[in-house]
Amino acid sequence: MNEIARKTAAAHCPICGKATDVAFKPFCSKRCADIDLNRWLSGVYAVPVKEVDDEDGERPAGSDESEKS
Ligand SMILES: [Zn+2]
Repeated sequence: MNEIARKTAAAHCPICGKATDVAFKPFCSKRCADIDLNRWLSGVYAVPVKEVDDEDGERPAGSDESEKS
């Protein structure tokens, strides 16, 4: 395990090729980690999903999480 960990730490981000950050390995940043996660999720949910018809256009007020950036 240690060898792998060392190797990973010295590796480069598979997304953008920058040096990996220990905090986000094997990626260089949370951004790239998110990108990879999205790819992964896209693959998982690659099943042809039709958009669910929004019959009840109800929008619970104030349920949206505010995005911090
Ligand atoms: Zn990156």
